[in-house]
Parts: sequence; C-alpha cells; structure tokens
Amino acid sequence: MELYNSLIKETKGLLEQGSPKVWEYSERNCWNDIGSSELVLQKDAAFELGAAGKGSANYVLFTSNPELVDKDQVLLYGPDLKDIKGDVDFARIVLLRVGVLDDDDEEVYRILKDIEFAKYHVYPEGYMVRMSPESYREQVRVSKQAIRRGISFQTIGNSYIKAYKKDANVLNATVIFVTAPGFDYKTMKDGAKKANDITNTLTHILEGLPTDCSVCALKDICDEVEGMKELHFGVGDKGTEHKH
Ligand code: SF4
Repeated sequence: MELYNSLIKETKGLLEQGSPKVWEYSERNCWNDIGSSELVLQKDAAFELGAAGKGSANYVLFTSNPELVDKDQVLLYGPDLKDIKGDVDFARIVLLRVGVLDDDDEEVYRILKDIEFAKYHVYPEGYMVRMSPESYREQVRVSKQAIRRGISFQTIGNSYIKAYKKDANVLNATVIFVTAPGFDYKTMKDGAKKANDITNTLTHILEGLPTDCSVCALKDICDEVEGMKELHFGVGDKGTEHKH
C-alpha cells in the first residue's frame, strides 16, 4: 500500500518547521467517551478549533511502510487545549500503518473505508466534532466544563488511536494535531482532497473500470500517484490488452 506515501512525505515536510510535543499511546489515558454525539451549545463553549474563517483540515493516510509510520503516538504542533483562548486554526491528520493490504487488492477499499469509519465512533465528552467531508475540514467545539476537567490533546489523541486499533489491520496509528498559527493549512486541505481522490479512484478501479488510460476521467490522479496504474493493471481484466 504505497499510494499515499508521497502524501505522507509531503505532510511531514509541511510540519518540519515546528517541534511537536509527543506522547506515546497509552490506552489507560483516554478522554471519557460518551458513546454518542453530544451537543455543545455556543454559550457553553470555550472556543472552536478550525472555526469558520480559520484554517482547517482533516485526513487519514495509509501505508504499509514501517519507515513512514512505526509508532502509536500523539503529536501536537501548537498550544494544547487548556492554553487556547479563542478560535484557532486546526488540523487533525492521522497516519496509519496497515497490514494485509498487499495480499488481496479486492479487499483494500473495503478495509480502508472500515478503518476510516472509526473516526465516526469517537465521542469525547465536551468535544463536539463537526466534519464536513466535502470541504475536508473538521470543526470542534470544546466545552468550558471539559477544559475545567482537564481535557487535552493527549487524551483525545489516545481515544482516536484506541478506536483505530480496534481494527486488526491497523498496526500503528499516529495522530497529529496542529493548532499553531503559521502552518500551511491550505496545503493540508489540498492534501485531504488528494487523499480522498486516491481512495475514490481505488473504488473505481476495484469496481472494474476498463483499463484504458487514454479515455479515463481519473487519469490526472493516476498520473500523479505512484502505484495507481500498476494497481489497476494488476486487478483489472487480466485478459485484455491495456492501452496507455
Ligand atoms: S490506471 Fe488508467 S484506466 Fe485505470 S483508473 Fe488510472 S487512468 Fe483510469
């Protein structure tokens, strides 16, 4: 599963300018999960992460390469929740090392989608997440009460890692939060779109799209993403001749 590797490298490049706080994953140190979505009213909110008008990006990248992802950890670039005083820019980027995906391409898409879905099963108390998949943003309203009780990115990150690791295909999960001003949130959002394009192209390929690049609407993304064409020619109709 090399399709997302260049995006992982680009993302690491975007973050190079900062020095993160790093916490190793600890399952015992998760934030309380209330099991279903909670409404945090504006009057009860301390602030919003990635609020309208602020930078915001959210995406998940997969790899099977341990050189790119080999730890379960939470990284934070910027102030932690207790130190944030008003609405801020926000990115949440998840890097996952996955196993088995190289064995059976037909299963790849379903497995990746199942893994991605884990993010919809995390409901931290006092941390209301609103995702907008079309715009690749994530907005989070954090309650004053949660701040008083000591909510932190370490505990929220651990909650996400715990959810991702419920899937046996996930070998390592690194959750990155970015809250500092001055990072290139626009490029991160572009990265989120690209990650989504890759996953969607994968669906089309696995649904049996004809392997004729010269007339294919997905050519731009396949030209850009290393390994995509090889994947298609590997799992397409093996009996036909491929036109490039
Ligand atoms: S490999 Fe070629 S035919 Fe297949 S999806 Fe990409 S551009 Fe289309």
